[in-house]
Amino acid sequence: MKAVVLESLRPIEQGPLVIREVDRPTPGAGQVLIKVAACGVCRSNLHMIEGDWASAGNPSHLPIIPGHEVVGTITELGAGVDHLSVGDRVGVQPLWSTCGYCEFCVSGVDQLCQTKEITGETVDGGYAEYMVGTAAHTHLLPDVLAFQDAAPLFCPGITAYGSVMKARLTPGKKVAVFGIGGVGHVVLQMAGLTGADVFAVSRGRNHLDLAAELGATSVDASSGDPAEALQRVGGVDASIVFAPSDAVVDQAIRATRPGGIIVIGINAGINALPFAQEKMVVGSLLGTRQQMREVLNLAAAGKIKAECQPFAQGRRGPGTRRSDGLSCAAPERASGHNRRMPCSGRHRPRPRHVGQRLRTRYAATDLIAVTPSAGCPLHPGKGSEHGESGSLSTVWDG
Ligand SMILES: [Zn+2]
Ligand SMILES: [Zn+2]
Repeated sequence: MKAVVLESLRPIEQGPLVIREVDRPTPGAGQVLIKVAACGVCRSNLHMIEGDWASAGNPSHLPIIPGHEVVGTITELGAGVDHLSVGDRVGVQPLWSTCGYCEFCVSGVDQLCQTKEITGETVDGGYAEYMVGTAAHTHLLPDVLAFQDAAPLFCPGITAYGSVMKARLTPGKKVAVFGIGGVGHVVLQMAGLTGADVFAVSRGRNHLDLAAELGATSVDASSGDPAEALQRVGGVDASIVFAPSDAVVDQAIRATRPGGIIVIGINAGINALPFAQEKMVVGSLLGTRQQMREVLNLAAAGKIKAECQPFAQGRRGPGTRRSDGLSCAAPERASGHNRRMPCSGRHRPRPRHVGQRLRTRYAATDLIAVTPSAGCPLHPGKGSEHGESGSLSTVWDG
């Protein structure tokens, strides 16, 4: 089968990914073989590929096939799999497997399992024609969901949902979402479903416009301190942060009322937490398997949607030199832009140009289409701001 293989950790411009023929994997006991229809291209893929997480042992080995927002069709069942069938449309999220018996697994928070395997980081992922999934962590897709719409639900979707659930929102409460990108724009939709009043904090006009389209009240962070602006309306009961910035976390803490909750879904530091106000800061990683099902049901009911736009892709695939997938998530190095701030407007023209060229050139070829989300500069007018993750879907035709 064809696969996009990560052979060495290098800057994306140096082509660390290669498309090559590899053996089609065989599902073992409790596993399924999935013919991949689409795979989201995540900002975190880029971190791994470029070696940002090497010191943390990520990826666990090389070569490896990245990709952790995977949807497709089951073509083969391993021994003992009886709740799934050949032909089922399914998806796999980053949580590829868990032990099933540790304190976290048995209490339902299996994303905290200390011996979990991560799709595309410790086991081969979805940048390939076929992938093996563990049946217990392979989710059935609702019939109405198209593959390329479903793929981003398996990382941005579940990430957004897990964070909203931790914010304990109820009708009439106020929540501020910091960072309106691939995850943040889904957070806005989910927070709105709780009946809470939703504020969207961003520096970009296009992000604020998207937030308004999604029913949120915009807070322009480029025209003053957003924490002060939110305090002028009484502060918020909860803040949800998907902008990887210590300064933004500080704003979120100051914007939150005493006793409120600050949910942090990215890597950032906390400078000051006034203890006397009894605010609670909680980290958020993905979500539970049950929450994954709820995300799929919400999308099937038309209540949420991860913004995507189809893009044709060259034969070399995502992350290779002709990629508009991972190169879109890459920062504009020449500008000195922060490596972890990939999707600000400053580098928008370059990837959009690359994408348009590829679309013209490769739309009729047989390999891949790519769909960036709202978090991506390939999507004019709906880009992400200061670094929150974007997501794309890679569709293998044929
Ligand atoms: Zn992801
Ligand atoms: Zn476990």
